Amino acid sequence: MDEGARMNVHAGVAAAFTLASLVAGCTPERSVAPDGDALVFEGARLITGDGSAAIENGAFVVRNGKIEQIGASSAIEKPAGASTIDLRGKTVMPMIVNVHGHVGYMKGATTGSEHYSRENVLDHLRRFVYYGVGAIQSLGTERGGVEMDIRDEQRAGTLKDLGLATLFTAANGVVVPTPGSVNGGPFFATDVVHEAASPDDARRYVQALAASKPDIVKLWVDDRNGTKTKMSKDVYRAVIDEAHQQGLRAVAHVYYLEDAKDLVHAGVDGFAHMVRAEPGVDDELVRLIVESDVFACTTMTIQKGRVDGPSWLDDPALAETVRPEVIAEWKARIESAAPEAVESAKLRYALLEDSLRKLSEGGARIALCGDTGLLSQAPGFTEHRELEAMAQAGMPPLEVIRAATQVGAAILGLRDRGTLAPGMRADFIVLNANPLERMANSRKIAAVYREGIAIDRAALRASWTGVGEP
Ligand SMILES: [Zn+2]
Repeated sequence: MDEGARMNVHAGVAAAFTLASLVAGCTPERSVAPDGDALVFEGARLITGDGSAAIENGAFVVRNGKIEQIGASSAIEKPAGASTIDLRGKTVMPMIVNVHGHVGYMKGATTGSEHYSRENVLDHLRRFVYYGVGAIQSLGTERGGVEMDIRDEQRAGTLKDLGLATLFTAANGVVVPTPGSVNGGPFFATDVVHEAASPDDARRYVQALAASKPDIVKLWVDDRNGTKTKMSKDVYRAVIDEAHQQGLRAVAHVYYLEDAKDLVHAGVDGFAHMVRAEPGVDDELVRLIVESDVFACTTMTIQKGRVDGPSWLDDPALAETVRPEVIAEWKARIESAAPEAVESAKLRYALLEDSLRKLSEGGARIALCGDTGLLSQAPGFTEHRELEAMAQAGMPPLEVIRAATQVGAAILGLRDRGTLAPGMRADFIVLNANPLERMANSRKIAAVYREGIAIDRAALRASWTGVGEP
């Protein structure tokens, strides 16, 4: 048996096991509708994800994993014989989509290539679903084809497991070499990103990359605070142009305002980060981004950990998937930061908040991004921190949720996800509190449903922390 076939057999066994254990909290008759039978979810506040006002006392009908009807409870025609699930007092929103993460590297308190494996990537994909994140795009740091394989198996249906977030991947991104030093790629992946020595070399690499059909091409245009060689204009123009010639989009890691402007002129399709140096985003960049319909990643929380101090790590929602000793180590790291480092982090974070406000007010296409999966950016929990950060920066709550659902799904080409509407997949989060009142309520999760089936969150919690009930 070749390696691929063996993996598929494993995947099949894992899928069967997970589906059997997915039915959570409810009896199978209530939570899994047999083919053709309808389920009615009734009484919740519905946030549909398209930015429209919430529907109070709403209801929706789910059949065969899809939403068939949705609206005010009084307006829904209940199919004969349908079972009803009472959601009075709850809020329902679509599953979250994150357009920027890095899967497979984080394990326990550390992030490193030694942890990277198919098994660890799959573990991350489970952690995302636990917190209601249904799709994640990993930006440019894969090893040995692991992410491509998982993605392809999910698309082919040979890895059919509702407990795994849907993976998108940029495979291996592009940097430039820094003479006498490692390149400016992410610290855990400097050995797997491609060092483009020239514009021609960049083109040849993107052509080769295109053969494996990545979902997007990632490039790092940054001098890492003056410590690395910055990618020159002619190299990034070659990367972006060749990506377009190959029918791919390009997304850039960026730091400075002038680079961001020139990247838009060069045709970049998205930014993996907002500008993080003085003076932040200006009106001209907002205008360029809007005119060119470039998507802008939020990616705020990776800068926010120090700004908030260690207390954010006391959140009980984090302790559901991360063991206490790991949290203690992350807290110690924040506590040991030099006061000057904390002060400069606060200044840079204020720029980020200001940038997000300007982009939001200017009508830019903003997508929730977590830079999840490194340092203390725990898969799944981070996305909820990101929602809160966006709201705290002044983005209107319904727009925050739209950026985390409809916008991300559209960027990833997920036509049947991202909103709650007839014909869409029944992928949703049931919340015990209203995130429109306080965005941190998004992590008060009562249940996560994928294709109308409840995920067994208690079993997942037990597998990670030894504690099933929080
Ligand atoms: Zn990143």
